[in-house]
Amino acid sequence: MSETMALTDIGTIKEVLARHGFTFSKKWGQNFLINPSVCPRMAAASGADKQSGVLEIGPGIGVLTKELAKVAGKVVAVEVDERLPAVLKETLADYDNVTVLLGDVLKVDLAAVLREQFGDRPVAVCANLPYYITSPIVMALLESRLPFTSLTLMVQKEAAVRLCAAPGTRDCGAVSLAVQYYAEPEILFAVSRGSFMPAPNVDSAVIRLNIRKKPPCTVRDEKLLFRLIRAAFGQRRKTLQNALGGGGFDKAAVVAACEAAGLPATARAEQLTLTQFAALCDALGERL
Ligand code: SAM
Repeated sequence: MSETMALTDIGTIKEVLARHGFTFSKKWGQNFLINPSVCPRMAAASGADKQSGVLEIGPGIGVLTKELAKVAGKVVAVEVDERLPAVLKETLADYDNVTVLLGDVLKVDLAAVLREQFGDRPVAVCANLPYYITSPIVMALLESRLPFTSLTLMVQKEAAVRLCAAPGTRDCGAVSLAVQYYAEPEILFAVSRGSFMPAPNVDSAVIRLNIRKKPPCTVRDEKLLFRLIRAAFGQRRKTLQNALGGGGFDKAAVVAACEAAGLPATARAEQLTLTQFAALCDALGERL
């Protein structure tokens, strides 16, 4: 197929997919982009250039992959659906800087992929994520501590709001604080449900998480910090002492730790900044 192959054209998509006997799989969250303006914008937002690489998750039939291949030095796309590499071989035939790896992104050894495929190149992640595993993928990428420069991701609109919520706001949850710990998040632009085939029941948004070089606060025990945050938001309407007490922490230790950290034990999770959670975590760590 030639470079002129329009992967956002519904007729072309149907023809290619029919030829490969492909039908959409709900299980893999397959909603392919058909709005021609979205992929070039995502590729530009990824910051990729000819000196850098891009890791894509779920290339589908390659509509975003193609735009990434135009701007980046190298693109590696991880796709779980074993029917798609044959399609991609055809749709990406004009691009010799793309490698497709068959596998589940949550099981692939990403450190090895970075080392073996990208060498010394800086690497950004850019993807239209399968919505059924948005949070696990985002958290796996962040917690991997791999040296990604940024993650430019299409996610459900509601997930975008949650992932990018600032501490102290109503939308902020455990996942927002985890994101804040590793990255500086921003919502870039909205994408309507009609931009996909088949159209999902929800609208989407593209977000960018700019990876921090180091966390915005220091804490002695990171695991405890995230356990604490999850427990506090697990019962977000309750006060810290009750939410944490009910979430497996010793209530007396929680009250004493709040006092040591200069926080009222009657505060609620959504009122705390990440730095305050870190202070509470260190104070609690000494008392457990
Ligand atoms: N990038 C394409 C586009 O924008 O049209 C497809 C996006 S579609 C929302 C999500 C893609 O992720 C599908 O191709 C699906 O098969 C793939 N996928 C789903 N789960 C995956 C996983 N665990 N690992 C890798 N790819 C996955």
